[in-house]
Amino acid sequence: MDTALRASSVGRARRRPKTFGENRVCAAADCETRLSRYNRANNCFSHAPAKFPRMRGEFTEEFATRQAS
Ligand SMILES: [Zn+2]
Repeated sequence: MDTALRASSVGRARRRPKTFGENRVCAAADCETRLSRYNRANNCFSHAPAKFPRMRGEFTEEFATRQAS
């Protein structure tokens, strides 16, 4: 943990990431996946609706790879 904090010497922005609560779980029935407090969605990654904000062109190979798996 300590090292992770120190490693973030990228940029000067010191904004606190917004958080959304500590103990939320996925909204899908029968799914108890904990949601990250940095994740503002109500579903875990595997239950997230398959739509994304307009970011075409931003998601490139990485995104395609994830879809394929
Ligand atoms: Zn889920």
